Amino acid sequence: MNEIKLDIIPLHEWINFNSRPLIISGPCSAESREQILQTAKALAKTGIVNVFRAGIWKPRTRPDSFEGVGKKGLDWIKEVKEKTGLLTCVEVATPEHIELAIINGVDMLWIGARTTVNPFSVQEIAEALKGFDIPVMIKNPVNPDLKLWLGAIERINHAGIHKIIAIHRGFNSYESAPYRNAPIWEIPIELMRLCPDLPIICDPSHITGNAFLLESVCQKALDLEMDGLMIESHINPKYALSDKEQQITPAELEKLISQLIIRTNETDNDEFLNKLKELRFEIDKVDVELIQLLSKRMEIVEKIGYYKKENNITILQIKRWNNIVKESLELGEKLGLSKEFLVKLLRLIHEESIQKQTEIFNKKTSKNNKSYK
Ligand code: PEP
Ligand code: MN
Repeated sequence: MNEIKLDIIPLHEWINFNSRPLIISGPCSAESREQILQTAKALAKTGIVNVFRAGIWKPRTRPDSFEGVGKKGLDWIKEVKEKTGLLTCVEVATPEHIELAIINGVDMLWIGARTTVNPFSVQEIAEALKGFDIPVMIKNPVNPDLKLWLGAIERINHAGIHKIIAIHRGFNSYESAPYRNAPIWEIPIELMRLCPDLPIICDPSHITGNAFLLESVCQKALDLEMDGLMIESHINPKYALSDKEQQITPAELEKLISQLIIRTNETDNDEFLNKLKELRFEIDKVDVELIQLLSKRMEIVEKIGYYKKENNITILQIKRWNNIVKESLELGEKLGLSKEFLVKLLRLIHEESIQKQTEIFNKKTSKNNKSYK
């Protein structure tokens, strides 16, 4: 896919935060006026939080869990804004939610993962947003489908919303352990490549599902140049009515953020720049060699394909492939390559090799056909 044309206003032009990262924090759900105000005041006191979040309408997997306090929570959020000066945001999933949030002065909206997944809902939301100038954050869909995420972003942008932030909150899968929702970093990275102007933040709370993995996920997000973090915080997480394992206190949030290393992608340190240039030069050379070697491998694969075809031998000989994998993994381990990486790489190479040979097998044989000879 090529770069996608979106009409986005840069983050720093519409929200004030001096140095990275943008911090959005607040409880998973608004539960009571006291809980909301106490949490918001403690968060505001840290001086590091830019936007207060709280779910009013909660999309829950099971109908017997806490589904949010509904519109009365909007009064509490309004009070947070008046008393702390923090910007506020809530999750919206229907045109009615949007209308109520806007009437009650909520500053920003977010679309949850269970809504992004449904183009009908997203389109309805987009229609309801027409004519408003309110920032909208769009979480990735629950399943790892970049196009679905992108489609939701495009629908909202085409409705005239230019202040958009994408939120990476991980993906639901059977293999997500140790996370609640596995962070598939390649997906937001590809989104950054396709939409270079689009701000992207990370929601480590819904990725980890617990408090103890938060720091590593936050650090990774910042090291991937994400613009900010949305982290759930509750004045008393033990008693939270939703997502209690992943919520932290405002004091813990302050400590967590202070421990993060904020790296920049630019420097004018000449010594560093020269060394980096040298290393990049080496990498570029190796990349060229890698591609040449892959091309050479595929040429040999083709020759083998013709040879097998002429001798009526199947494309796949599983024993041979198992040997390649085993030997490559042994060598890789000695050379310090991770098994996980090598398995993925070998699988890709093997798929391409099989594809090449299948094309050869499917070709109509004629006297002029290219042959291994
Ligand atoms: C939330 O932010 O509380 C929430 C419900 O998130 P998600 O849509 O990522 O599950
Ligand atoms: Mn939550």
